[in-house]
Amino acid sequence: MRLVVVGGVAAGLSAASRARRLDASLDILVLEKGSRIAYGACGLPYYIEGQVGSLDQLTSRTPDSFRAERRIEVRTQTEVSALRHAQRELQLVSGERIRYDKLIWAAGARPANPARPDGRTFVLRTDEDAARLQTFLEERRPKTAAVVGGGYIGLEMATALRARGLAVSLYEREGHYLRRGDDWLTRRITGRLERSRVAVRLRTPVGSPAELSEDVVVWAAGLKPNTGLLADAGAATGRSGALQVTDQCETTLPGVWAAGDCAETHLIVSGRPVWIPLGATANKMGRVAGANAAGLRQRFPGVAGTSIVRIAGLGVALTGLNPEQARLDGFRPAAALIEAPDRPRYFRGRQLQVELIADCATRRLLGATIAGDEGVRGAINVVATALAARMTLDDFLSLDLAYTPPYAAAMDPLLIAAQQLAHELR
Ligand code: FAD
Repeated sequence: MRLVVVGGVAAGLSAASRARRLDASLDILVLEKGSRIAYGACGLPYYIEGQVGSLDQLTSRTPDSFRAERRIEVRTQTEVSALRHAQRELQLVSGERIRYDKLIWAAGARPANPARPDGRTFVLRTDEDAARLQTFLEERRPKTAAVVGGGYIGLEMATALRARGLAVSLYEREGHYLRRGDDWLTRRITGRLERSRVAVRLRTPVGSPAELSEDVVVWAAGLKPNTGLLADAGAATGRSGALQVTDQCETTLPGVWAAGDCAETHLIVSGRPVWIPLGATANKMGRVAGANAAGLRQRFPGVAGTSIVRIAGLGVALTGLNPEQARLDGFRPAAALIEAPDRPRYFRGRQLQVELIADCATRRLLGATIAGDEGVRGAINVVATALAARMTLDDFLSLDLAYTPPYAAAMDPLLIAAQQLAHELR
């Protein structure tokens, strides 16, 4: 029985490894069009910033180590160009045909490319993109940079290029960042960017790099899922354009699973299908797809929609829904926004802003947005856990959270926000 996996990064390699652990007899082949596998794309902005010395440091495994340790064959520089599912056959760009019994599609996503790109315009998705940008920065020594897109990659790249000493302008079509239209968050992020001397241009659509005068342009204006070949073979895609999958990560083609950035999942708070392409999700979906391709029946529970980003030293973390999204999903949300120190002031406590959202009718927690210099990760993870447990505000208020001055405040900012929200709901 042969399992073929297309894509050799987070989702594909988790899937292949899990399938191998569960079924020693499977013949497993991973096909990857790039020259490197198992690298952390999440580390690329820090490579550009100079915090990571080389791209090799971002790579955790090689094809040889997969072969030797897991008996998984990995072929790099091997691009799939067609899929004939009725014949259970893939065709490579080279013309070679590869047969499969089961297929896992983990082909990820690609950046939306700029119109009329030129030699000073870069996207950042792969190690090769990062290497090209790094070479340009070293050889041409640009003084000014434009970053197009205020999503997390744009924000990380504005931070990275600023840290390298370039004068950076950030262009964003909408009036906010991270697709999250909360005014307080927009003000907080803008304030931090401006403090680090990034010129912020919100509500400024850029049609093509030709409109910009900066020496280098980083185009981070959205992603598209790599679904074309599978969709051509008849697999259904959702409204996002990503592949529709069951809770067992199976596509609408029998015997074909999909995981990671090419696939949709659903939001646990509302059940709505979503496409939130992130690394941690790709790993977890990959494990489920691999287990099911090996004959198990495992469920991927969906995502809370948790993410975190560092913007010029400011941590911003999101989970679940903000008030606007909650209304669109049919809830009647109430929200409380507070600011409180993460530790006692005598222990150099830093201010944390917490917005907590709950449904007025059921008092169920719906989401949170948190910003601060420290403590953001721990706080958002508590709320993400509460969302997974479908906690009400009252359950949340009774949580026993840790306190000691070097690490925490006696009254945790999360509980202050929850008390305020309970007050709003009365
Ligand atoms: P990918 O990593 O895209 O891998 C898919 C692979 O499939 C690619 O290597 C591609 O070459 C290959 N492929 C595609 N088509 C074919 C074909 N036809 N034939 C053969 N091979 C093919 N996520 C977080 O959670 N936190 C972060 O902080 C974070 N930071 C990020 C920063 C940057 C700059 C980037 C680019 C991403 C970041 N992410 C982050 C997202 C995270 O990297 C992705 O969610 C994750 O890599 C998705 O894994 P994947 O396996 O689904 O897809």
